[in-house]
Amino acid sequence: MNIVLLGAPGAGKGTQAAKLVEEEGLCHISTGDILRAAVKNQTPLGVKAKSYMDAGDLVPDDLIIDLMKERIQQPDTEKGVILDGFPRTTTQAVALDTMLSELGRPLDAALLIDVDPEVIVNRLCSRRMCKECGHIGTAADAACPKCGGEMYQRDDDNETTVRNRLDVYEKSTSPLIDYYRGCELLVTIDGDRDPQVVYTDVKEALKL
Ligand code: AMP
Repeated sequence: MNIVLLGAPGAGKGTQAAKLVEEEGLCHISTGDILRAAVKNQTPLGVKAKSYMDAGDLVPDDLIIDLMKERIQQPDTEKGVILDGFPRTTTQAVALDTMLSELGRPLDAALLIDVDPEVIVNRLCSRRMCKECGHIGTAADAACPKCGGEMYQRDDDNETTVRNRLDVYEKSTSPLIDYYRGCELLVTIDGDRDPQVVYTDVKEALKL
């Protein structure tokens, strides 16, 4: 099963993807996670991507498409992938279609986790992540509830950058909703509820 997760930053894509990985054994590919690791390790990709990420802007399509072309061919993707944060532009969506058709793996669904922008601003400004295992928590977590690791706030989870990321989403990424509706792959889930309730709907929508 190959799934695209759509939704504004902070809609809960990473949280739902983590549940699908745990329960269904799908391979989770988050372009944001790959880019953050590249920035941390100061790879050539990381050096190029950093200023865009810090501002909440999109990293240029050609860099992201090259990254995904390489990642999607790795053996751990054969049983199926959950794409989280990719595609983010129509150009990326078209490139993904080509990549998947070359691999003979059709897309099964584009799952939109729908959340009101004002809810997102509050969520992201209080979001914290675990340095060790990547668990997504909140400012109320003194340590990671999963592994005890140190929690930190992403550089781009501040109000100014969050508002820019939402504008970028509206302008560049939300047209993908129509794109996938046109391909009859779009499924919309109300993401403004408890993550476990959202997950029940996700499973139902994916017939799992
Ligand atoms: P995320 O963790 O998905 O919120 O991504 C964090 C940041 O990484 C975004 O604000 C962008 O700067 C960059 N990024 C992640 N995925 C993409 C993508 N598919 N296209 C362009 N930029 C991306």
